[in-house]
Amino acid sequence: MLESLKKMFSGNEGDMPVNTGSKPDISREKSKELYEKAKTYFPGGVNSPVRAFKSVYGTPLFIQKGDGCFVWDADGNQFIDFCGSWGPLILGHNPTKVREKVIETMQNGMSFGAPTALENELAELIIKNNKHVEKIRFTSSGTEAVMSAIRLARGYTKRDKILKFEGCYHGHSDSLLVKAGSGLVTFGETSSLGVPKSFAEETIVIPLNDTDALTQAFAQFKDQLAAVIIEGIPANNGLLIQDPAYIEFLQKICKDNGTLLIFDEVITGFRLGFEGAAGYYNAKPDIVTYGKILGGGLPVGMYGASAEIMGHISPDGGVYQAGTLSGNPVAMAAGIAQLTELLKSGFYKELNAKATEFAEGIQRFATARSYKFKVFHVGSIFWFAFTDKDKIQCAEDIDAASMEKFKIMHRELLNRGIYLGPSGYEVGFVSAAHTKIELEKAKRAILEALDIVFRNK
Ligand SMILES: *Cc1c(COP(=O)(O)O)cnc(C)c1O
Repeated sequence: MLESLKKMFSGNEGDMPVNTGSKPDISREKSKELYEKAKTYFPGGVNSPVRAFKSVYGTPLFIQKGDGCFVWDADGNQFIDFCGSWGPLILGHNPTKVREKVIETMQNGMSFGAPTALENELAELIIKNNKHVEKIRFTSSGTEAVMSAIRLARGYTKRDKILKFEGCYHGHSDSLLVKAGSGLVTFGETSSLGVPKSFAEETIVIPLNDTDALTQAFAQFKDQLAAVIIEGIPANNGLLIQDPAYIEFLQKICKDNGTLLIFDEVITGFRLGFEGAAGYYNAKPDIVTYGKILGGGLPVGMYGASAEIMGHISPDGGVYQAGTLSGNPVAMAAGIAQLTELLKSGFYKELNAKATEFAEGIQRFATARSYKFKVFHVGSIFWFAFTDKDKIQCAEDIDAASMEKFKIMHRELLNRGIYLGPSGYEVGFVSAAHTKIELEKAKRAILEALDIVFRNK
C-alpha cells in the first residue's frame, strides 16, 4: 500500500479494504417466488416502475421489515438501507416516536372526512417554522401536491403555459410527464403514452443551468407563462446541484414577467433543512410543494404559498382541489411526530455532518485510486456518478453508458449487505438512524465494490 494512501485512511478511516473480489450472490429464493406471483397480479410485478429492478441485476427484493437504518428481505438478508423509501424516512425505519403516535391516533379511528385538530397541529408546526408559506393545503401524495400547485398558478395568473426543466421529476400528472423535444427551447414531448399532445404543448422544457435558454423561453412565451417549476435541488435524475446565481436569475426573470416560481420540494423539503432548498438558497419561491418526509412514512403531500395566493383555492377561491383522505388523521400524526424530531436543535447539523463525512471519505478513496467516480452530495442526499466531471448540473451531462458500472456496483453492494435504490439515476439518503459504525461499514463495502467495478479499467 502506498504510504500516502495509508495516511489518508488511517484513524477513523480504517484500513484500506482488501480487494476480496466478487462475493457470491445472496439468496433470493423467497423474493423470487413472491415476484413470480406479483407478476401475475401487477404490471411488471410492482406498483411503481423503478421497484422492478429493471436497471440492475436480479429480481427485486421483497422487504419484510425495517428498523433504524436496516431492512430485512423475505429471505432474511439484512441490509444497511440508503433508499429510505425514496426519501421519507429521515429518522430511519420505524422510529419509536412516529410509531407510537400513529398507534395512539389509530385507537380513535382512521378517517372521518371532517376536520381534525391534528391537521391544525401539523400545519402550525410547518407554518411557524417556514417563512415561505402562510397557508397550506394537504394532499395524499407529492404528485397531487404538484399537480394542484400548477393548477393554482394557472388560476392565479390566468395563463396556461408552464416551464419545466429537462431532468426534473415532478410526479406523474399529465402536464409534467413531458420531456424536451429537440432544440434549446422546445414545446415538450410527452414522455408517456396516454398524455395528450395538446397537454404537452402547454409545457415548455429547457435544460437546467442555462440562463440563455431561460431568457429565450421568456422572450418567446412572454405573458403566457403561468409558472416555472423546478425541483428545489434536482434529485430525481442524478443530483444536479444548481449554482446560487442561477437560482437568483430564475427568481428575477419570473418576477419581472409576472410568472410564479414553484419550488417542488417533495424530496428536498425537510431534508436539506426544515425549510428545504428555499432555505438553503435563501430563495423566495411563490409556491412550494412538499411530500415524502412530511408524512413520516405515510402518504402525505402539501402545497403552500402566501395567504393571498392560497386565497384562490376552493372554497375561498375558484381553483378547485379536493381529497377524500386529505389531512388523514393517522398520516397527520406521523407527520407531527417526525417533524417534531427534525425541529430539535442540532438535528440537521449532526445529520448533514455525518453524511458529508461519509461522502467525502468515499470520494477521497476514489480520487486516490484515480477512479472515474464522483460522490455528489448536499445535506444528507448523495449520488454516485461514474464520471470525471467536477460538476454535473444538467441531465445532458449524465453519461448513460456509465450506468453499466452502477449495475455492477449495485450487485456487489447487495451482496455486502448494502441496499441502494435500484437505478444509477437515483440518489441515496443518510438518515439520523445511520450511526458512524454503520456508515463506516457501508463505506468499506462501497470501496470494495469500486475496486471490483474498476478492476479491469
Ligand atoms: C417524489 C417526488 C414527486 C412525486 O411524489 P409522489 O408522492 O411519489 O407522488 C414529485 N416531485 C418530486 C421532486 C419528487 O421527488
